[in-house]
Amino acid sequence: MVRVIMLSPPGAGKGTHSKWLTLQTGATHISSGDLLRDEVARGSELGRQVADYTERGDLVPDELIFRILAPAVVAAARHTGGYVLDGFPRTMPQALRAAQFGADLALTSNAVIYLTAPEEELVSRLLDRALRDGRTDDTLGVIRHRLAVFAKETAPLVDYYRSRGILLELSTDRPEAEVQADLLDWLQARGLMPPTAGHARPDHAQPAGANATEDL
Ligand code: AMP
Repeated sequence: MVRVIMLSPPGAGKGTHSKWLTLQTGATHISSGDLLRDEVARGSELGRQVADYTERGDLVPDELIFRILAPAVVAAARHTGGYVLDGFPRTMPQALRAAQFGADLALTSNAVIYLTAPEEELVSRLLDRALRDGRTDDTLGVIRHRLAVFAKETAPLVDYYRSRGILLELSTDRPEAEVQADLLDWLQARGLMPPTAGHARPDHAQPAGANATEDL
């Protein structure tokens, strides 16, 4: 079963591809952003504590994130045996703590998908989403801030996971079906998904980092 971390700047498609991957694999989709927005919408104590951060596009403090995420990951492991983590971890301290948590509970991640697109494309997608979904953090100023937060806090995770041999980098500046075909091939080549008849690509027969260390 896949235990995947989706890592990407805002607007690169992690929500879309996480939902697709969830349908393909039967793993549980866990979106930290959705969980936080639910808390804010319900007006819970936790929701009141996180609302200022999410409105500004700042990262929510790790303690609050773990309070929400840890039970969701444990429940996912129990119910489906797998997860697609959409939006977590987002800082090196979160990644290190998640790795420890994963090792303790035998819930280590086996893949990290890093989605990319040019910055102006990200901005334009998020402004389109603002018209569609009305997310309060999809305004131009907050979008620029979220991209800067990604560059400073989250981008270092790319090298961290790449060095462990479990990272796949995919450009999403192309049709969704192409991104998904590449993703499927890579997961299949690593033995994380069963092969699809007539779909295997010979150039992926020898996966990179097949013996890589696994980390949550
Ligand atoms: P997202 O839906 O992934 O774009 O996340 C929306 C907002 O939720 C972010 O801008 C942050 O304020 C907050 N958030 C989501 N995930 C995390 C995380 N792992 N750590 C800290 N803040 C987060």
